[in-house]
Amino acid sequence: MHGRLRARSPGDNGAVTSRTPLPPRLPSPLQEVRDDRFERHGLRLVLKRDDLIHPELVGNKWRKLVPNVEAARGRPLVTFGGAYSNHLRATAAAGRILGLPTTGVVRGEELADRPLNPSLARCAADGMRLHFVDRSTYRRKNEPETLGTLLRAVGAEDAYVVPEGGSNSAAVRGCRVLGAELRGLAEVVGVACGTGGTLAGLAAGLAPGQRALGVPVLRGGFLEGDVQALQERAFGGRTGSWSLDERFHFGGYARTTPELDAFAEDFEDRHGLPVERLYVAKLLYGLAALAEEGAFARGTTVAAVVTGRPFP
Ligand SMILES: *Cc1c(COP(=O)(O)O)cnc(C)c1O
Repeated sequence: MHGRLRARSPGDNGAVTSRTPLPPRLPSPLQEVRDDRFERHGLRLVLKRDDLIHPELVGNKWRKLVPNVEAARGRPLVTFGGAYSNHLRATAAAGRILGLPTTGVVRGEELADRPLNPSLARCAADGMRLHFVDRSTYRRKNEPETLGTLLRAVGAEDAYVVPEGGSNSAAVRGCRVLGAELRGLAEVVGVACGTGGTLAGLAAGLAPGQRALGVPVLRGGFLEGDVQALQERAFGGRTGSWSLDERFHFGGYARTTPELDAFAEDFEDRHGLPVERLYVAKLLYGLAALAEEGAFARGTTVAAVVTGRPFP
């Protein structure tokens, strides 16, 4: 293992600040939008605006990280991600606004020698210490020996470790509140999935008769088992009514097509919603396609969870 550290940016005396965090906006607002692609099939579309929960710790990341920060009880937080990870940025922001030192273990040792990309620069500006590791070390990060070595290397052996993507039981239980906020407000709730932690919690929080629909943005078809396992760990078994539609990943994580880009731009023009491209665009596209296919009965209210907003 040859991880390399990058010091905090000059002038940053660490992630711990005494600034009082802004209160979150919870429950997040529900916004009705009028969209003929839904209305002509007798459907109502509502947006669950989790992107408005907090200006700096956005969307489902608030719901997933705040319970983890509480569980950390002041210990430094260590987590993992790729060079453009939303989760890393959110963890760095959580550290700054909630007063906890954070370290991000970043996939790709070669990145240590290059200028930081805008996503990692934001992490560093929020006080996150970045530790770059080669891909094979990164793959083995969950093995106890590798993890132990990593934690020693970053000088955080007492750290509270949050997994890549942030989906542990605390996060999944945090997302159950999202489902609870939507009780009685929609028959179908769509959410874009990375690790599936948000879907696992959301489905558990909905009332009987409501169902959650996950749209994976990664290809591979592994998510069904992952979401089930997350629910087993968080709740003791499969919970609530949920399913996945694997057709809308557009080639995989961060992949896009001209059609998806055009759809997202058009949605922004129609509804004034800044459409986050890695996740939210694929969800909205998927829901519009399903509406067009007649997948929802007339009279159905479809809620789309706006899990984040574009970066920068
Ligand atoms: C992280 C993220 C997700 C994925 O959440 P999971 O719990 O990993 O499935 C969805 N949308 C946005 C905007 C995100 O940043």
